[in-house]
Amino acid sequence: MSNQKTLSIIKPDAVKAGHVDSINLMIENSGLKILEKKEIKLSKEEAQQFYAVHSDKPFYNELCEFMTSGPIIVQMIEGENAIELYRKVMGATNPAEADENTIRKKFATSIQENAVHGSDSEDNALKELNFFFKDI
Ligand code: ATP
Ligand code: MG
Repeated sequence: MSNQKTLSIIKPDAVKAGHVDSINLMIENSGLKILEKKEIKLSKEEAQQFYAVHSDKPFYNELCEFMTSGPIIVQMIEGENAIELYRKVMGATNPAEADENTIRKKFATSIQENAVHGSDSEDNALKELNFFFKDI
């Protein structure tokens, strides 16, 4: 176990529905700290770049459209074992498979409109944090 930083995004569906404060309360109640937080709107190019790893997936275009459909909140999160812990707090990608008391169980409405993003490895956390924050 070690102290880690990870990237959290509150996606357009959850921002639109007014769930930002409730989601951040769940993050903080898990012991994680929100170090940085900003509201932005992704351009199509930025969304395509951010999700480039999924460019060969059938849902790629729809995903990029969804991620540019409204403002998002990007956050730098820190804590012990933060990457794995935050993924646990988020719950499974598909809300139908998410555990009780996870963000996606409570706030996701579909496998695409699933409220939040979280980095899935140390390498990706660093890359993704660098994408949105300069001073890490
Ligand atoms: P994220 O990367 O957003 O934290 P994840 O790691 O749980 O989510 P990925 O497999 O990386 O899931 O997929 C990235 C995002 O693409 C998902 O969060 C979801 O918004 C969308 N997505 C994944 N699978 C599908 C699908 N089958 N149909 C539509 N959208 C999907
Ligand atoms: Mg992912």
